[in-house]
Amino acid sequence: MKTPLLERYRALIDLPAHTRTISLHEGDTPLIPMPRLAQQLGGGFELYVKYEGLNPTGSFKDRGMTAAVGEAAGRGVQAVICASTGNTAASAAAYAARAGMRAFVLIPQGKVAAGKLAGAVAYGARVLQIEGSFDDALSLVVEASQRTPVALVNSLNPHRLQGQKTAAFEIIEELGRAPDWLCLPVGNAGNITSYWMGFQQYHALHGSGLPALLGVQAAGAAPLVLARAVEQPETVATAIRIGKPARGEQALAAAQESGGSIVAASDEAILAMQRQLAAEGIWVEPASAAGLAGLAAEVAARRLDLGGKTVVAVCTGHGLKDAEIVASQFTAPRPVAAKLADLVRELETE
Ligand SMILES: *Cc1c(COP(=O)(O)O)cnc(C)c1O
Repeated sequence: MKTPLLERYRALIDLPAHTRTISLHEGDTPLIPMPRLAQQLGGGFELYVKYEGLNPTGSFKDRGMTAAVGEAAGRGVQAVICASTGNTAASAAAYAARAGMRAFVLIPQGKVAAGKLAGAVAYGARVLQIEGSFDDALSLVVEASQRTPVALVNSLNPHRLQGQKTAAFEIIEELGRAPDWLCLPVGNAGNITSYWMGFQQYHALHGSGLPALLGVQAAGAAPLVLARAVEQPETVATAIRIGKPARGEQALAAAQESGGSIVAASDEAILAMQRQLAAEGIWVEPASAAGLAGLAAEVAARRLDLGGKTVVAVCTGHGLKDAEIVASQFTAPRPVAAKLADLVRELETE
């Protein structure tokens, strides 16, 4: 049997001693070489996708949730609460279920992909739709967790970051050193903050090098690029549809210290990159394509020269999480008579 993530990296992770192991065998996700996509982006560099969609509930959120729920369970808390654009909800619900705890999930009204909501419901969470934005829902859960004995498991919870930084360790161990660039989507900015913590920690111990970080927001939800909160964030990439990132300052500091930056990608560019990834066998939800969409735009505008470099793109969530987005882009399959001749004719046409 595999060792649970937090036990594998126990020596590198700072969690209270009372933390229990609540694991679904998260982490240990593949680092997949993408030679064809690298070529399409100009070539001359090595590109890998860290496919976080292969975590137990289909997104990287599981790395942090094993820590946050394990810590809460260890101090005898009976319930967890979070605000979510979808993936945090599914993950919190699954780990709470695993721990025998209740989960309360607040989602912004009408703005969550059905595949994600279904997850939270399937794992038995109590889902509440707030008549407001994600940012409203987050403010509410923070206050509620201060007044009632439920544990907050949004990435404001520092234990989440301890779990999430393990992805940086896995990348270094697989490549033998840190990549030159790491690109990833940025929403509430917990993940980019975690990666930077992880890379710095490993480098201090083993001299593994530090990547430059390219954080990518959706153009319609780009508070860190605009340097102001966005009141009504709008993007197809629902997982990063966030107007006031909880860890925005840390994200900006991480990008700057690393020699990277935070940029924005249009919805068109995000969906185009989602198709390009799928064309090489990797189906991700739209937000997960944002990192690479931003990278591609930087390279095309010659702001970034990747010659001879190693690049890792973090693809944060699985395509199945938001199947509607693909379903809405294709026309219904054409009916074909159940006859061999008709089928063969179809196979011979373009
Ligand atoms: C949560 C999430 C993000 C954004 O991560 P942050 O830590 O909020 O910046 C990106 N992609 C997916 C699929 C997510 O679930």
